[in-house]
Amino acid sequence: MSLRVYNTLTRTKEDFVPLVPGFVRMYCCGPTVYDHAHIGHAKLYVAMDVVVRYLRSSGYSVKYVQNITDVGHLTDDADSGEDKVERRAAAESVDPMELVDKYTNSFFEDMDALKVRRPSIAPRASAHIPEQIQIIQDLINRGSAYEVDGSVYFDVTSAEDYGKLSGRRLEDMEAGARVEVDSNKRHPGDFLLWRKAAPEHILKWPSPWGIGYPGWHIECSAMAKRYLGETFDIHGGGLENMFPHNEDEIAQSEAANCAPFARYWIHVNTLTVGGQKMGKSLGNAIYIKEALGRWSPEAIRFFILSTHYRSVLDVTEEALDAAETGLKSLTTLWRLLNEALAKAEDGEEATDITEAVGHLKGRFRGAMDDDFNTSAAMAALFDFRRELNTALGVKEIPARQSLEAAAKALRDTAGDVLGILKEDSATETDDLAPQLMDVLISTRSALRKAKQFELADRVRTELADVGVELEDRAGETVWRRKS
Ligand SMILES: [Zn+2]
Repeated sequence: MSLRVYNTLTRTKEDFVPLVPGFVRMYCCGPTVYDHAHIGHAKLYVAMDVVVRYLRSSGYSVKYVQNITDVGHLTDDADSGEDKVERRAAAESVDPMELVDKYTNSFFEDMDALKVRRPSIAPRASAHIPEQIQIIQDLINRGSAYEVDGSVYFDVTSAEDYGKLSGRRLEDMEAGARVEVDSNKRHPGDFLLWRKAAPEHILKWPSPWGIGYPGWHIECSAMAKRYLGETFDIHGGGLENMFPHNEDEIAQSEAANCAPFARYWIHVNTLTVGGQKMGKSLGNAIYIKEALGRWSPEAIRFFILSTHYRSVLDVTEEALDAAETGLKSLTTLWRLLNEALAKAEDGEEATDITEAVGHLKGRFRGAMDDDFNTSAAMAALFDFRRELNTALGVKEIPARQSLEAAAKALRDTAGDVLGILKEDSATETDDLAPQLMDVLISTRSALRKAKQFELADRVRTELADVGVELEDRAGETVWRRKS
């Protein structure tokens, strides 16, 4: 089976075939940097990170562009309201670009902590004004856009297939138009490409239509074209940006370039908090920095990836705690595997381990090839854990080659693709627990040898009280945290 991707544009799962064999060009709408990133951003960018990681692990070379929106994103989708960056900069009494730097740094700090790999290019909208002006000029020349009093609008009636991504129809937009719609617009569905700036506005540039600044949607068309070409493979983003943002990107790019825009659209569904929509104004926003103070980055990824990216994910403290516990059992397997490996010698292949590795590889690939089904991929990991625990529980330590194959399979799947393996946990030196456990275990076996069974049992019971289980195997005792 090869990779199949659910394409929002066609509402079907399609075979994934990039334009250039072996090479994937991919774009994802980045954050508007006027505040710290919240757990909803984590869901989107962790999901996209896994898409990129999986494509790379499947042998593709991936050029991944994720922009930074630092101008033009208004507080209202209907092209009224203020620029989000300018408004917040005024509230913090700083220069807008100072605010942009602060929150761009904060965003990447959070993404790095969450092991989200950096995009190949992270271009800023404000650094691509000439490219945006060029596309707007092309649109005016082609009769797809018009200027009114220093502002420029896209004419949605000029596009034959406007609404093809979101399924919205122009007639419905007309009927549902709000009264306060911008009176410069010829059609209520028309959208801003360039906005005339008020004298007190800070983020503004000269243009053929006077001093102003770009609308939000045009930046993604400009940066995608600049770095990926007119037609490219994958465009990703949050489902909440499908309309109007992504719809408008398609309309203006295809009208300006006379070429198809993105070929596959991947939309990541939203996140709720205890069943409620999350929002700063609703007072229930969970910032990534707060979450990282309570849960490990791997547990946050584990939690996000346990649900398919196209499903809504509901976040609760209990769910994140459960993710941390689930992750622990995987970390324990990794540790036991490495401990066994340290003592293992060359020998006859352990067929049960070879089988388990084969199951994991096949099922993991099958799940990920099915529209990046991370929840099924994680189920495969847990079955692998069960099979391997049995294999590791036998008298003799399995042969080195078999253990190495198992360790590699775990690293390739849970580590490289999902990013949920705490790889350094096998050799943690800053954590005293393994050393203290060695002391307790050797003390207990000394007590048993001396027939001090009551004291030896006390070690076991008291460890159990603090959540540590001991298991006596042939010639040795291993420990694990109870899951
Ligand atoms: Zn965008």
